[in-house]
Amino acid sequence: MTEPESSTAGNFVRELVEQDLQTGKHGRIVTRFPPEPNGYLHIGHAKSICLNFGIAQEFHGICHLRFDDTNPTKEEVEYVEAIQADVRWLGFDWADKMFYASDYFERLYQYAVQLITQGKAYVDSLSADEMRTYRGTLTEPGKESPYRNRSVEENLNLFSRMKAGEFPDGTHVLRAKIDMASPNINLRDPAFYRIRHAAHHRTGTQWCCYPTYDYAHPLSDAIEGITHSICTLEFEDHRPLYDWVVEHAGAPCHPRQIEFARLNLTFTVMSKRKLLELVEKGHVSGWDDPRLPTLKGLRRRGYTPEAIRAFCEHIGVAKRDGVVEMALLEHFIREDLNRRAPRVMAVLRPLKVIIDNYPEGQVEELEAVNNPEDPTAGTRTVPFSRILYIEQEDFREVPPPKYFRLTPGREVRLRYAYIVKCVGVVKDERTGEVVEVHCTYDPETRSGGPQAQRKVKSTIHWVSAAQALPADVCLYEALFVKANPGDVPEGQDYTANLNPHSLERLTGCIVEPSLAGASPGNRYQFERQGYFCVDPDSSAGRLVFNRTVPLRDSWAKIEKARQDG
Ligand code: ATP
Ligand code: MG
Repeated sequence: MTEPESSTAGNFVRELVEQDLQTGKHGRIVTRFPPEPNGYLHIGHAKSICLNFGIAQEFHGICHLRFDDTNPTKEEVEYVEAIQADVRWLGFDWADKMFYASDYFERLYQYAVQLITQGKAYVDSLSADEMRTYRGTLTEPGKESPYRNRSVEENLNLFSRMKAGEFPDGTHVLRAKIDMASPNINLRDPAFYRIRHAAHHRTGTQWCCYPTYDYAHPLSDAIEGITHSICTLEFEDHRPLYDWVVEHAGAPCHPRQIEFARLNLTFTVMSKRKLLELVEKGHVSGWDDPRLPTLKGLRRRGYTPEAIRAFCEHIGVAKRDGVVEMALLEHFIREDLNRRAPRVMAVLRPLKVIIDNYPEGQVEELEAVNNPEDPTAGTRTVPFSRILYIEQEDFREVPPPKYFRLTPGREVRLRYAYIVKCVGVVKDERTGEVVEVHCTYDPETRSGGPQAQRKVKSTIHWVSAAQALPADVCLYEALFVKANPGDVPEGQDYTANLNPHSLERLTGCIVEPSLAGASPGNRYQFERQGYFCVDPDSSAGRLVFNRTVPLRDSWAKIEKARQDG
């Protein structure tokens, strides 16, 4: 991928908010992030969180966290808690402004009574199927329900009995009385209340009819004094209804709804339904599987909140839907970790190397730079001894063209240590596989030695065998094989595009002893391999790492540094 341009995409929402401040329409900006607690947050939500909290921060306002918990059957306390943790992890704070739409159930009910009293809402008793037929289509107007002209008294009576639990689910619906012939289907007498005898995670069985999103959302915004209600593009056609509800219910203020394009990313899915399905069907190990775009998954993978925020800022906010490349997100992760992650040496697929002329039992502590990008990061020592491990791919008995790493008769430099030369191999008699590489080292080539600057074509990493720590390493690839996972032949669904190689778990990896104190969440650059993060399932006896993102150009970089150095 080419480097993204340094300039950041526009943010028209920010401009609209700024105008509203300049014209004096508002003194203080109040936004909200309104998740429905029916799933875990994902990177798409991060865009909305960064936008809502970011705008509030920038203009010295406040952003509320509001749980949009109007659907009793799908919502759970588990999600409520996870969402709070994720928003905090991303780096945002709602102070004491955490609310639930369910806090407003009583007030919402009173607003509905008011609408009925003013003849602006009625109880309809058509069946769901009939109601669908009456609604009309995009090209044909709808038809008025025979119940549309019930008297105010009858409506009030029925509505209070809906609340009292006298009717079974689906028998009556409270609808707005707007316009069955409206070209905007959302305005054809939308449903505001449905009967549902279901317990709610906060209000229990107190209610048996629940408000719809289109009714509850604008009023919740207005009750909280939200100035700018920022939502995704699919609500653009609902805006006239949003405005209708706020105006006709006599709400205390009129928030301005602004729609922006949702974030879509290549090679992944973001709908909560699909994420839930991937978890429930065992395609992934859980909501925090490092292959998922959930914030829990990305966090376990090693992504940083700083990088996610920088990414969200960079992609900007537009009015047109688009798809962002996963590679761009990875670029931001790399940029951030490059600055912060300490470098260490780890061997993922070990091959034993014996330095024949190195004294047995001798151990030297060699100085290694912790992070060349961070002068304050200092140095550490790594032990060097006669038996080491290198990466299997760093040795070839018969080198392919342009292969400059270790091969019989050839010299390479061991990072931070000596130049070694391959003088022989030991093979498994049965398989013919090389199981041991024998080398000699040149004592003059150590850092500070007379031949320290001697150049060879390549530098490889290594870990001294005696002090090495065992580790498992999980390598991840995209969860789907297609940029658009929904691109499938007739009769199949997106799961047909799952990547069977999305996870490769390497056991028997080894890492340098400085990682002895590594704890879950710590992030490192394994030299030449990429960025890795300690998994929560790690134990003192066996470290487990997740590869956050591979390095690009690891070869070119190390070679260049040596040649420049
Ligand atoms: P889904 O369609 O998967 O169920 P949702 O939009 O219903 O997701 P909510 O919990 O209602 O999920 O979302 C909370 C907020 O996050 C909403 O304001 C929504 O617009 C925003 N949001 C959700 N997905 C994205 C996305 N991909 N990009 C930007 N904002 C998003
Ligand atoms: Mg939603």
